[in-house]
Order: sequence, then structure tokens, then C-alpha cells
Amino acid sequence: MTKRRYSPRCAECHQKTMAIATVAYDIKIDHDGKKYDIHLPALSVPKCSNCGAISIDDAASEQIDIAFHQAANLLTPEQIAKLRDDLKLTQKDLAALMGISDSTLSRWESGTQIQQRAFDCYLRLVFASSWVRWYLAAFHAGRITGIPKEIVQARSPVSNFTPSDYQAPAAPKHAGSVLAA
Ligand SMILES: [Zn+2]
Repeated sequence: MTKRRYSPRCAECHQKTMAIATVAYDIKIDHDGKKYDIHLPALSVPKCSNCGAISIDDAASEQIDIAFHQAANLLTPEQIAKLRDDLKLTQKDLAALMGISDSTLSRWESGTQIQQRAFDCYLRLVFASSWVRWYLAAFHAGRITGIPKEIVQARSPVSNFTPSDYQAPAAPKHAGSVLAA
């Protein structure tokens, strides 16, 4: 682990009295039209031993971020990247499959942007189901328009309906691994 870097000087009282401390911390976060009350019982953060001011550094910000993702029940950037990796899809592959831009996915995975709840659900569906991935690949390849009757009628698409019911789409290269999954 690299050494935690923070300014030793307090921004409030200007003394060189900042040191890492553990504090209880509450923060309200607005995301996607919802407010979240985040409570961290033990935030590790630079704190002034003179005036008590705290300074949210990168490491503290990361802890808050993790707590927020848990409270909001959203996939973390690491989870998105790992689930994508597990499917052997590049960012470009997954973005093309989902019909979103590479840069959007890249921001979700780097944590510079947090996905909206609907996109979080969409990501979960794509990761969870090879059937969903197959459907999207076929849809983007122009093999399917609308919702085929077989899909609507199938009570359990996974057991009653398989990708081989359709001829493999003349899919773009990125869909290969998707269809094989
Ligand atoms: Zn101070």
C-alpha cells in the first residue's frame, strides 16, 4: 500500500496539526433524483488535533463512495469491471452490446460517474443472463426486430427458448464471445 498523502496543515486553524483519526461521519448524497443519508461509523480521515476540523482526502472519499454504493444498492466501479472481465468482454464490446457509448462505460468503471438506477438494473441483466446478451447481440445485428412471439409466449425463456432457435446472426466480431457465453 502506498503511503496516505494529505496536507499536514489544517485549512481552518492553519496549524500543522492534521493526523489520521477515526470519526463517525454523516453525509447526504443526491443521486438520480433520490436522497441518501449515508452514515459511516468509522471514517478514517485526516483530522486537526487543534480545532477538530476534518479534511476529506482521496482515501476518505473512497470510503464514502463505497458506503454510498452499498446504501444505494448500486454496482461499484470494481464490480462492473470484474463482471465484464469475467465475460471476457472489452469495454468496447460491452458498450456496443448495451448500445451505450464507450466513454460512459469507462466513466462508470473509473468511478468518475455513477450509473443511474435503471442502468444499474440493465447492467445486472446483461451480466446475469447469456440469454439477454444473445438477444441484444442479435438485435444489434439486425436479426431481430421487436419482441419475437416465442419470447413472449415462453414462460421460462431460459429453458424453453435457446439461441439456437434462431440462426446465429451474422454478428459483428464483438458479439462472438457474447453468443458463445
Ligand atoms: Zn485546525
